[in-house]
Amino acid sequence: MNAAISTASITHFIHGQRVAGNSLRTQPVTNPATGAVTGAVALANRADVDAAVAAAAAAFPAWADTPPIRRARVMFKFLELVNQHKDELAHAITAEHGKVFTDAQGEVARGIDIIEFACGIPQLLKGDFTEQVSTGMDNWTLRQPLGVVAGITPFNFPVMVPMWMFPVAIAAGNTFVLKPSPTDPTASLMMAELLQKAGLPDGVFNVVQGDKEAVDALIEHPEVKAVSFVGSTPIANYIYETGARLGKRVQALGGAKNHMVVMPDADIDQVVDALIGAGYGSAGERCMAISVAVLVGDVADKVVERLVERTRTLKVLDGENLAAEMGPIVTRAAQERIAGYIALGEQEGAQLLVDGRNFDGAQAGAGCEGGFWLGGTLFDHVTPEMRIYKEEIFGPVLACVRVPDLAQAIDLVNAHEFGNGVACFTRDGNVAREFGRRIQVGMVGINVPIPVPMAWQGFGGWKKSLFGDMHAYGEEGVRFYTRQKSIMQRWPESIGKGAEFVMPTAK
Ligand code: NAD
Repeated sequence: MNAAISTASITHFIHGQRVAGNSLRTQPVTNPATGAVTGAVALANRADVDAAVAAAAAAFPAWADTPPIRRARVMFKFLELVNQHKDELAHAITAEHGKVFTDAQGEVARGIDIIEFACGIPQLLKGDFTEQVSTGMDNWTLRQPLGVVAGITPFNFPVMVPMWMFPVAIAAGNTFVLKPSPTDPTASLMMAELLQKAGLPDGVFNVVQGDKEAVDALIEHPEVKAVSFVGSTPIANYIYETGARLGKRVQALGGAKNHMVVMPDADIDQVVDALIGAGYGSAGERCMAISVAVLVGDVADKVVERLVERTRTLKVLDGENLAAEMGPIVTRAAQERIAGYIALGEQEGAQLLVDGRNFDGAQAGAGCEGGFWLGGTLFDHVTPEMRIYKEEIFGPVLACVRVPDLAQAIDLVNAHEFGNGVACFTRDGNVAREFGRRIQVGMVGINVPIPVPMAWQGFGGWKKSLFGDMHAYGEEGVRFYTRQKSIMQRWPESIGKGAEFVMPTAK
């Protein structure tokens, strides 16, 4: 395995080989902690995408015909190899994304969960059989793979989000083309090489690096039968519309603005720990990050006072420093966009209690002066009309909104255009139950700030956070990557004489 962190050229991976491709376009890859350019990633053109899809299409018939238990054995071997190399993967994530190393280890661990799930594919593909649906006739259903499927993934989980997709897709008998984020592309090649080492036939898993040009070529390619996308809402919407117009199956997971409702009876220590961890962990660059604290009744002053103290003393350090609680922002452009939102919040009249723009890279460690840094930012008295409330900032900015009671907290959350994750902190079982039933959000945590569902449950938001109806991974993932076939069968001894002109019914 070659962790290409220090090498200059980050290529595609097609038919079992790293290939530079035809396009001359590249994009620099940076270490966000230092700002140093560590590589150049190739940006595929249509010919490169065609080559990857052709490799996947050629590999499909034999792979689809491989018995599921043998496909599962490749997954078991892959699982073993990922476990052996998990820290290398985590270092590659930290080097290009910036998140702290222990958080990157957690990301890899949540990806491993999905590989473990995919190892159970023979059981997951089992069909239903009904004997004697009519005299001498049986009916059963089975699920077959689709063909070449594509995954288009965001920068914020370069290992976990691809692993939401390809282990399930491949185990189910499809062949796969991954188009990772060009911001942190190295891990995709490491995963491709581990799959190859696990015995996956060449062409079953391919990587095309790139940007919009590669994405458009992929979704428009007639040989690509299904597209899984995770990223921002405008692009998710575009992918969904384009894919659906072209007759493809699409699941497109979009952006988020996740609220945490704090009831007056909640344990304040637990609430503050949860808000700090879920608000500033991974620098707020998680689709399940908490970006709005909804403080109900008289709990607000107590929580805000403690949040100010904790936000000011966050350990913002180079992600490789094991003392770090938060690392840098992923790119200079993202850092500037987030700083722009902080300025906007002030203009809109929110109370800026802690200003992350005051943080200086030199405080993060030696060599970090040129990195992309912000400290944690805390706003109070944010209101629903403000853009800093409505829009996804995707950075370490926590907004406190004050409401008088649970009903208004629920109305506030339900009125938001996003519906990815939400949490409610309370000791009252009835409040928890009502909250879980009434809230219009796809993933709910009761005293759990980041309720990312387990590998066998499936992940997906509601409203503008998911286009399509199938969630990622879990049994919905298996359904997404397969199609059902129903077979009815009888034998000549059971066939009566004469043509039938009426709708067949059970006899
Ligand atoms: P992004 O939308 O910019 O990019 C996602 C993917 O789309 C990348 O592979 C990118 O190369 C490609 N892309 C970008 N612009 C494109 C265009 N104009 N046409 C076609 N393809 C394009 O997202 P990002 O900045 O990499 O990731 C952050 C976003 O992802 C946030 O909005 C976050 O909420 C979201 N996200 C959502 C989930 C979820 O499960 N709902 C999970 C992780 C991240």
